[in-house]
Amino acid sequence: MKKFLDKHTASVHVKGLVQGVGFRPFIYCLAKKYKLKGWVENRNDGVVIEVQGNKKSVEKFISLIKTQAPVASNIVTIFSKKTKPGNFSDFQIIKSKNTSDEITDISPDIAVCDECLKDMKIQENRINYPFINCTNCGPRFTIIKDLPYDREKTTMSPFIMCKSCAAEYTDILDRRFHAQPVACSVCGPEYELIYKGKIINDLQKILKIVCELIEVGKIIAIKGLGGFHIACDAQNEEVVKRLRKKKNRDGKPFAVMFSDIKSLKDYAIVNDVHASILQSWRRPIILLNEKKKLAPSVNVGFDTIGAMLPYMPIHYLLFEKLNIPVIVLTSGNISDEPIIIDNEEAKKQLTGISDALLIYNREIYNRTDDSVAMVVNNKERVIRRSRGFTPTPVELKINVDGILATGAELVNCFCIGKGKQAILSQHIGDLKNIETLEFYTETIEQFKKLFRVKPTLIACDKHPDYLSTKYANDLELPKIQIQHHHAHIASCMTEHGLDEKVIGVAFDGIGLGDDNKIWGGEFFVCDLKDYKRITHFDYIPMPGGDKATKNPWRMAVSFLYKFFGKDFLNFNLPFLKNINKKDIDLLLYAIDKNINCPLTSSAGRLFDAVAALTNICTFSTFHAEAPMRLESVMDDNCNKYYDFEIIKTIKFDKTFKGIIDDIKSGTSVSVISAKFHNTIINIIFAVVSEIRKDKKIDKVVLSGGSFQNRYILEKIENLLIDNGFNIYSQRSIPANDGGIALGQLAIAAKRREMVH
Ligand code: ZN
Ligand code: ZN
Ligand code: FE
Repeated sequence: MKKFLDKHTASVHVKGLVQGVGFRPFIYCLAKKYKLKGWVENRNDGVVIEVQGNKKSVEKFISLIKTQAPVASNIVTIFSKKTKPGNFSDFQIIKSKNTSDEITDISPDIAVCDECLKDMKIQENRINYPFINCTNCGPRFTIIKDLPYDREKTTMSPFIMCKSCAAEYTDILDRRFHAQPVACSVCGPEYELIYKGKIINDLQKILKIVCELIEVGKIIAIKGLGGFHIACDAQNEEVVKRLRKKKNRDGKPFAVMFSDIKSLKDYAIVNDVHASILQSWRRPIILLNEKKKLAPSVNVGFDTIGAMLPYMPIHYLLFEKLNIPVIVLTSGNISDEPIIIDNEEAKKQLTGISDALLIYNREIYNRTDDSVAMVVNNKERVIRRSRGFTPTPVELKINVDGILATGAELVNCFCIGKGKQAILSQHIGDLKNIETLEFYTETIEQFKKLFRVKPTLIACDKHPDYLSTKYANDLELPKIQIQHHHAHIASCMTEHGLDEKVIGVAFDGIGLGDDNKIWGGEFFVCDLKDYKRITHFDYIPMPGGDKATKNPWRMAVSFLYKFFGKDFLNFNLPFLKNINKKDIDLLLYAIDKNINCPLTSSAGRLFDAVAALTNICTFSTFHAEAPMRLESVMDDNCNKYYDFEIIKTIKFDKTFKGIIDDIKSGTSVSVISAKFHNTIINIIFAVVSEIRKDKKIDKVVLSGGSFQNRYILEKIENLLIDNGFNIYSQRSIPANDGGIALGQLAIAAKRREMVH
């Protein structure tokens, strides 16, 4: 009788990332451990558990769910209540139900785990099997077509499990219990090498040939997790140069993959924070300072490398056989188009670039590039958010349901709102060609379906020419246009859960302002709803509009003409020797007559001008190349700076006079670069100090692509913290335009909330 009275039954609802990460087996084992009866079930909106046992055990069980959950899971809420006792004989895992429109998180792809790597050497049916995975690792987002996350809704559905895999899949205590992509050499996907018109199926032969080819300087296209890669020896200048030519890529560094952390440490400076991110299950590319040179064409003059570690079983198998520690592993695409995911497409497009093609017969459903991050002040900062991160949502305090934010133009990501969650798409790319636009529109449709969202409100950029704005205009739905830099600041605020008045510093390349001028060096006082522009970089003509972005020398000439008139032509400036005299005259004429010379306050264009003026980068071959090169040559130990003035707006007359004096006196570009960077830091400090005095606000939010400058971000954060400011910068959401959509979403939600 006493025993019966002791019986306590609770119903527990867990929301967050709890599917496809070994959550139900974890619950099962935990329940067994505490001798509880009941069941656990996957629903669209999370995992539901009913447990019965003595009260203490039930309470202990509930408290341990959060603290002991599997590594890749992310619990957002646990709701539990006492419920009427059921009649359970056991603890069971019951079959998935598709219950409501609410959905639970979908796991990003997870790097192969250590246990699977071990199994790959001992399990009979998985010896060197390159698609090995378990509930703790393997493909997820890239193979999911629909929810709930079950095998038949993934691109694994054509593969019928063999007896042995099925046994693991159904054994609750097995590490592969309900691992949807479970597979082995008997029943799973296979690689195939296409080389010299022949098809090779034997994996050992494939590995041998691929390694030999890489070692003798050939280029291989390899199907990855979220799209194709192109690989070659990163120490062989000849092949890297050839790849550059074939890919039609001038100056943008290639990512590299090292065999392991030990060999990476020979080539780059790796601290503990770098190491833990590099080895985390998300396995992004990390920007590191170079220690020992790779082939010069890998990073073409930069002092940094973008490095990653193996994350697919095939990477490990290749490095086991390869006699070199590092390979280039760049995205398999044609110039700025999305990376290729389809085998047939790869055969058509990549055969011209590569000497052999390594493919496999499982479809990639959701395209994802490698993610890229950097570390500043010992914190990870995601620059490109894709594989390993997408589609992890951002939790908000306000309701964002039904809002679709279409993002900006460059490095586009869009964002959809589901309840109080913002789901940012994977990196889409620059919305400048039809292929990327197709990827964009298809992915929006896919997200609507996958996350069960019917948009009722659209948030987009103010710029009418962005394809993302045009896309928004074509939808017959209410629409809110959002100023670009306000969206940048709101993105960072949202990441940090801020919903109040802050000082916003938004520095970037280009964004349309309220006065129809091009903004980009902006100081705001703002909240999520609205903003007030306090001051900005003084306007300067941007001769040729978009052309100025590709030709930093144009901005240098524009600044020089403004501050020195035609005198600058007699300064004997080295960078002008690279420019056609006629082009300079034409430019000055255009400025005089105001022909296609929009005014801009852009920080990016200012950096461009200084990079050109110092002859570091007069022509740009990829987005933000000039500022990146200017940062790259800097002498970090120089504390000097240039003068500037703030008379309503921020004026650079004295800055440029200082730079010209330095050039004339033969000061090194490393010192000029440092002095210029320090000037920008001083400007931010001076302006936000003034605003704090005036408005009594001490929270400073930094965003915009210019805050990818590691030097500026590090120094300004420290300086502001030392002076009693509260400082917020972007971490898991990009500071560049890839983070804009999140800000757009939050602003639209806030304005909608105010109306209701
Ligand atoms: Zn595993
Ligand atoms: Zn099997
Ligand atoms: Fe921007």
